[in-house]
Amino acid sequence: NGVAIGASVIPLVNKLQDIFAPFKCLSSKIKLPQVVVIGSQSSGKSSVLEALVGRDFLPRGCDICTRRPLVLQLENRQCESDGDGREWGEFLHLPGKRFYDFSAIRREIQEETEREAGINKDISDKQIRLRIFSPNVLNITLVDLPGITKVPVGDQPSDIEKRIRTMIVSYINHKACIILAVTPANSDLATSDALQMAKKADPSGSRTIGVITKLDIMDRGTDARNFLLGKVVPLRLGYVGVINRSQEDINRNRCVAEALAYEQNFFCDHPVYQSLHNHCGIPQLAKKLNLVLEQHIRALLPELKADIKSQMDAVAAQLNIYGEVMNSKADQGAVLLNILTKYCGALSSLVNGKSQEMSTL
Ligand code: GDP
Ligand code: MG
Repeated sequence: NGVAIGASVIPLVNKLQDIFAPFKCLSSKIKLPQVVVIGSQSSGKSSVLEALVGRDFLPRGCDICTRRPLVLQLENRQCESDGDGREWGEFLHLPGKRFYDFSAIRREIQEETEREAGINKDISDKQIRLRIFSPNVLNITLVDLPGITKVPVGDQPSDIEKRIRTMIVSYINHKACIILAVTPANSDLATSDALQMAKKADPSGSRTIGVITKLDIMDRGTDARNFLLGKVVPLRLGYVGVINRSQEDINRNRCVAEALAYEQNFFCDHPVYQSLHNHCGIPQLAKKLNLVLEQHIRALLPELKADIKSQMDAVAAQLNIYGEVMNSKADQGAVLLNILTKYCGALSSLVNGKSQEMSTL
């Protein structure tokens, strides 16, 4: 089922959430950042998101398809009382209606886009909000945005480019947003809208991952080696090159799994890319995203620790007032101690186990 983001982060987040469960205020703090895809129209943004989620459900195509922001909230749901582990989606604008069929989700996104933005290519900044419930996903929010265009077509206003740029900036300016800056390999990286906008929003490059799509359709005799190695536009977290489904694949209903197998073969057989495997493939992109998410969780830990400590101190102070015979308060103290101990264990295994991996990011 694809290479769902969070393969390595899911257990960690679940564990921390279990530990903090007795404290509602703390468990809500373990929030992962939003992941936003940006780039020119038809650069492959929706395709990259779909491949990462591992399901077919987004409108894609050679024309403008994504015309409203799609906020995709993935929710890890182990089992439902009436469910059988099936994944399902629910739209904010259709509360209570469960979509088990992902192609029906795509149709509803298209229809809901048309309801707000009309049928003739215009865009709207009003979000479509979709939640996907699945045992195989991480609690994370992904945002698919319209791509940058230059020339108004259909019912698009004359200032379409400015409007789309403003919309994108409103998402990527948030410090807690991870930017997937998408550029097709058959265009010049130095003129990439995505990289230019990402650089402005995130000058230090600490939350921008470069994604190069369409490695399969570059001009004969050229390859993306220098792009991927950061020799054209350096990027702190680096680049990953991917191959998504072509329009023909989409027309032929080629599924995510087939596309991933094709991608893997392409890179394995390729004289240039076979030596760049750290930089190639959707699984590699998922891995990089995981490392960035882990880093984010690690950054949250000291604050969570301080919060627990202050709650401990507060309970200890109360214990002092009541004296030691008050069982209920003593119980609370024991619970907190227990939590702190588990927390320290989780923290040290995280720091010991992951620090090497993180340094290679
Ligand atoms: P978006 O406008 O950036 O969301 O781009 P889409 O994901 O809708 O893709 C635009 C078109 O490019 C579609 O026809 C895709 O099939 C095609 N496409 C996207 N990525 C690739 C790729 O890596 N290789 C090939 N051959 N086609 C791709
Ligand atoms: Mg799109």
